Amino acid sequence: MHESLIQEIRSKADIVQIIQNYLPLIKKGKNFVGVCPFHDDHDPSMSVSQDKQIFKCFVCGAGGNVFNFVKDFEQIPFPQAILKVAHLANIVVEDQYIERQNVSDAKHKHLYDVLAEYVRYAHYILNTTDGQGARDYLMKRGLDETIIDKFELGFNLDQDQATRFLLAKGHSLENCVKANLTRTNEYGNKDVFAKRIVFPIHSSEGRPIAFTARTLDPNESSKYINSTETELYVKGQVLYNYHRALRAIKQKKEMIVVEGVMDVIALDRVGIENVVATLGTACTKEQIRLMQSASHNVTICYDSDEAGQSASLRLARLLLAARMNIQIIRNNTGLDLDEIIEKQSKTSLQALMEQKLSYLDFFFEYSLRRLDLANFNQRKEFAKLIMHESNQLKDRFDQALMVDRLAQATQFTPDQLRLLVQAQTSNTSQVAQRPLLKSKLELTTWAEKEILGQMLFSQQAVLDFRQELGFFADAGYQKLALTIINYYRSHEECVIADFISTLEDASMIELVTQIVDSEIYFRAYSSEALHDAILRVKINNLDRQLELFKQKYSDELAFQTNMERIQEYQSLLKQKRELVQLRGVDKYGKQH
Ligand SMILES: [Zn+2]
Repeated sequence: MHESLIQEIRSKADIVQIIQNYLPLIKKGKNFVGVCPFHDDHDPSMSVSQDKQIFKCFVCGAGGNVFNFVKDFEQIPFPQAILKVAHLANIVVEDQYIERQNVSDAKHKHLYDVLAEYVRYAHYILNTTDGQGARDYLMKRGLDETIIDKFELGFNLDQDQATRFLLAKGHSLENCVKANLTRTNEYGNKDVFAKRIVFPIHSSEGRPIAFTARTLDPNESSKYINSTETELYVKGQVLYNYHRALRAIKQKKEMIVVEGVMDVIALDRVGIENVVATLGTACTKEQIRLMQSASHNVTICYDSDEAGQSASLRLARLLLAARMNIQIIRNNTGLDLDEIIEKQSKTSLQALMEQKLSYLDFFFEYSLRRLDLANFNQRKEFAKLIMHESNQLKDRFDQALMVDRLAQATQFTPDQLRLLVQAQTSNTSQVAQRPLLKSKLELTTWAEKEILGQMLFSQQAVLDFRQELGFFADAGYQKLALTIINYYRSHEECVIADFISTLEDASMIELVTQIVDSEIYFRAYSSEALHDAILRVKINNLDRQLELFKQKYSDELAFQTNMERIQEYQSLLKQKRELVQLRGVDKYGKQH
């Protein structure tokens, strides 16, 4: 992608608005602040500057421009992050750029094609007389034509009929096998989903990549089977219905997470469309990331059985760790969502979906079902569990409410309850504190940063640096200095957010945002300040050399055994003295 296009997207996409797609930001003074998604953050440590169009975390050091944020948050390659930002900012990027980006898509084009053809074919079959039995079954379960069309349901006839159709359409047997549509053995080919109703599973971009398929044969042992993993489909990396639900999720600012395909369809039948399924109860990191990029408000609605409830707790904790807002549907009916429609009514399901518990309320009820409060030890255990969990809450008011509720349930007093957790928390409250005093080394780096800050700000500073000092002791700073010098070769000025786009090294991006975020950068180019910083760096470099010298030759210096060494040492000292003097003259004016 050409640099000018990257710049254009960068300048049209406001970093504050883009980041707010991922997490809430609060205006604070000139900047915006939010909870940093790149470390285990409890206070908002990340600041976002609308002026400079960069973000920066004070604690973990993460920083960069809008592309770096999206790239690191979604863990996608840089070019993809640029396209994602363009998409979020409603900037149309010509197809030619997108085509070139998706090299891996081109490699998989044949697989995508055969899968798309199969979906069309199976959907067609379902609507013929051959699909009558399957259609009857679906109707009986309340899945009418609208649902069949919307979710692109299909029917796979017996034996190898789908495979034969695909081969006749010019697809290779190899691709049918690779897409997990055909199985081959010594007797020939067989359709993987023979005599089954197929429910396509799409990638987040909306292309079919796998299936879950239900048998119509009552003697068949496995009611549902799923695609095995293929080049396109990796279990745990997709959320079912994500591409369809995304618009409703954005509109409602909420995502409902269910277990399976039938749950998604049941909710669609009662008009709830902001729903995705994890396809099983084991939710993966990739799925959490997908959820985060859609909405930070998640409502969990897993099955009401034991497995579903403990999976709800696991998922809730993962989401909380990812700093998302969560609620959990209270389902005590013992029924699946589609069964609620069938055995009760659509209104019952709608009402159930309004029964949202906070995480702590859910945890309270969940633990209560597992412990016997008549037993003292279990009652104490229960109190400890809830107190520990509620101490993690940021909201003091919610905490207080929970203590009251717990006191009622356990008959312990609020003071006793607090005693239960005091012992635990006193050990863990030692949060690492940042040093208040700057060490000598830090003062050096401060001067180096000041020089870099001026170089980022003005080309004149770059010229001064090259003439005067030309190098830094710190390899990372040196690399950045060279990069800045190089950047000015092809650019008139250095717009920070655009400069950052050209950097690949994460530590360099961090360094730039750190410099630009500190007060150094606000100063305009000043020859005096710059030269003073250069002198400071030079003096410090000499200090370091002297220190090393002393360490290495301490005996020879102490006993004055080696005249050469002593002369060398004194020459270093002399150089330092001259610089210190020079700095004094510069600093206090020429009359000295
Ligand atoms: Zn951070």
